[in-house]
Amino acid sequence: MVNNPETTPLAIDIDASGIVFYCRSGYEKDASDEIAALSANYQWFGYANFKTNQGYFTFNFYDNNHALAFANQVNIDSLVFSRQYFVRYAILDNLPPKDRLGAVINGLEKINQSGSVEAKSFLCLGSVSVDYPDTESGKQLARFAKKFVVPLRQSLRRSNQMSEKEDLLRPMLHLYMTGFSQWFIGISLEQSRSPYHNGIHRLKFPSDAPSRSTLKLEEALIDLVPQSSRTAFLREGARAVDLGACPGGWTYQLVKHKVYVDAVDNGAMADSLLQTGLVNYAATDGFKYRPEFGIVDLVVCDMIERPDRVAQLITEWLLKPFARAAIFNLKLPMKMRFETVNGLLKKMDLQLQQSNDMSFIIRCKHLYHNRDEVTVSVLPAEKSYD
Ligand code: SAM
Repeated sequence: MVNNPETTPLAIDIDASGIVFYCRSGYEKDASDEIAALSANYQWFGYANFKTNQGYFTFNFYDNNHALAFANQVNIDSLVFSRQYFVRYAILDNLPPKDRLGAVINGLEKINQSGSVEAKSFLCLGSVSVDYPDTESGKQLARFAKKFVVPLRQSLRRSNQMSEKEDLLRPMLHLYMTGFSQWFIGISLEQSRSPYHNGIHRLKFPSDAPSRSTLKLEEALIDLVPQSSRTAFLREGARAVDLGACPGGWTYQLVKHKVYVDAVDNGAMADSLLQTGLVNYAATDGFKYRPEFGIVDLVVCDMIERPDRVAQLITEWLLKPFARAAIFNLKLPMKMRFETVNGLLKKMDLQLQQSNDMSFIIRCKHLYHNRDEVTVSVLPAEKSYD
């Protein structure tokens, strides 16, 4: 039997045991395996709920307190496969098409009346976001979400539930539209949320870049490299090596900052880059190449090669050292993607700890512009370095 939205009554289920995580469609299992492993380390146990390709999943904790504990402690940047998350307090089902706003207000009242400690967060909101999955069906919700946020914000301010000015230090209200008739309500905290809407960092493709890959390195340079380290290798006169450089999207990002680049690949490099005078092209195997003039500031690598070989190569570059810092992609296998990445990063971390002179910070993210790969940055632990 098909529900008639005009006649089926709104259902509000108050439940503060779950966190909703957003991820790339098809990566629900990998992302939820990561959350299960991390939560188990903290002794916060639970289980994941998802359908493949829905672009999000819920992780339900057996103890309600653990959902909020997770939000207090786990920054989104430390998660590889999740882009954003919020603690879910209510599920609204059978939303009436003519009064969805009324249904949300009703849901918020029920959360407040529930009297739980967490419900107090809903009395001091600083901002609101209307979110939806990064899927084909999610795209149909985008325009609606954009329109809905304005009256919702006004209503929250009128009822004194949200600050007059946007205050990102306070909890953010998330409405998550899984479709037009089922929404989740929850909050994210300043210390753990992504600053991007839907957790997606959109970037404009520079029309003179030789490949769309350029956006991966641009996103990584912003989100995986703190400003203090960025200026250490993105400066005029710095030296970098790009392994698997062709046609040149990554080299383009470095040259933009007037960095000298040794571009290593057997393929064809964009002429526009060769003409800058900043690029030295070496048609050779990236596994055999070594920098000609001693240690470089940065090695980047986007070679389509087995992830274990790439991780090992970069570890060697940093330990030797041939480079002070690295940004590279690990191409992912079809299955066991979380286990593969986790295992390689742990091994790399252990090996890098053998260095007597340097300590490193490893960050890894399934970036918005990545497909079946993740991007890793390995930077010296010191804030800036020459
Ligand atoms: N980052 C590049 C860009 O932004 O334009 C795209 C790199 S493309 C995904 C992968 C490149 O790795 C190819 O050009 C391929 O020739 C190169 N490659 C694969 N194995 C390599 C190896 N062993 N040595 C050097 N280059 C390699």
